[in-house]
Amino acid sequence: MNPLGVHALVFVPGWTEAEARHAIAAAAHCEFDLIEIPLLDPAEVDPVMTRRLLDDHGLAATCSLGLSFDTDISSEDPAVVERGEVLLTRAVEVTAAIGASYLGGITYSAMGKYLEPPSPAGRTNAVGVLESVCRLAADAGLTVGMEPVNRYESNLVNTAVEALTLADDVGADNLVVHLDTYHMHIEEGGMGHPVHASGSRLGYVHVGESHRGYLGSGSVDFTTFFRALTDIGYDGVITFESFSSRVVSPTFAAALAVWRDLWEDGEDLASHARRFILAQLEAARRATWS
Ligand code: MN
Repeated sequence: MNPLGVHALVFVPGWTEAEARHAIAAAAHCEFDLIEIPLLDPAEVDPVMTRRLLDDHGLAATCSLGLSFDTDISSEDPAVVERGEVLLTRAVEVTAAIGASYLGGITYSAMGKYLEPPSPAGRTNAVGVLESVCRLAADAGLTVGMEPVNRYESNLVNTAVEALTLADDVGADNLVVHLDTYHMHIEEGGMGHPVHASGSRLGYVHVGESHRGYLGSGSVDFTTFFRALTDIGYDGVITFESFSSRVVSPTFAAALAVWRDLWEDGEDLASHARRFILAQLEAARRATWS
């Protein structure tokens, strides 16, 4: 059975002790196995407090981030690249200290709209930093994920094939592809091929609807996606992700272009998402072709 997770920003905008307690209790109450904790600024996450609260609720955790234009390792500016490497290094340390074993997301570029295509020199910088970050992560027993995102959120990796190519260039055993149905729906030719192309290198999954609202209320082809996961025998984490300005900060909402809210009650949304994912997995397992 796949461990099922929920993104912390479904419940809280930040990670003070009160926010962490609320989010972890809510994820546990909704019967998820794990919570995904954003490390956009790793300094804002207290790993000792986080680990204690996770243990109290019997919940596991994963971590994710998106770099900024000020910490973009695919930049041509060495100072920007250096700041990105420092941030990723700190994120690896915090992930390990929390007791998590996965750090994913937009780990290869800024999370934001670029006004030009990636440059070869910038891509080479990203490969170099990812090589050393993956080495550090391997020493700490961590897996690093690269999440292809839509064209408005990065210019470097928009598809699974682009992630696989970048991962080949980095050449680290602990670097995996992290697929997100919301982004796939925009950029991929379908919901099955990227899963099959990734195969055993698929290491993490985000499930989100086409408008990032209630699963099943948009136009993502979840049937094809979950059957493909079943076909390749994917037994890794599946995490639900959704954002509403009812929860996230105005800055974060603007970064992800959350201009209208599709939900108000994070716990109702998350409980529904878990039931939806379990039903999709069961249906995929029961699909027959004879
Ligand atoms: Mn995602």
